[in-house]
Amino acid sequence: MADVHSPAVRSFNMSRIRGKNTRPEMLVRRFLFSQGFRYRLHDKKLPGKPDIVLPRYRTVIFVHGCFWHGHDGCRYFVVPKTRTEWWTEKINRNIDNDHKSVESLKQAGWHVLNVWECDLKKDKIRDTLTRLVRDIRHM
Ligand SMILES: [Zn+2]
Repeated sequence: MADVHSPAVRSFNMSRIRGKNTRPEMLVRRFLFSQGFRYRLHDKKLPGKPDIVLPRYRTVIFVHGCFWHGHDGCRYFVVPKTRTEWWTEKINRNIDNDHKSVESLKQAGWHVLNVWECDLKKDKIRDTLTRLVRDIRHM
């Protein structure tokens, strides 16, 4: 089967490593740290194990990979042409879990912010991080 992705999209998808300390997450962490924010990481006691926890602001941040978390309408969220059903099910389950975590966190009084991997690309990262800091401070 032909590969329908452009090389750029493909290499982006290849970087969609799951789990802790991914590159997008590191970008956000480093920036926040440089701005004086102090945080906890991957707090297992909180629903969904948020990537970044800012206790002082009662705020958690999820840094989401567009593929794994099914970023709606995003050009980087392309369901593979093989094993499509399996992927769809898997990603839908992730989306479902994300929703549940956000609900539980909000009920517990946390502010929840999401950062999408695609918004950390070179042309967008500055705006994204500026907005993020504003959101943290103004909440
Ligand atoms: Zn995206």
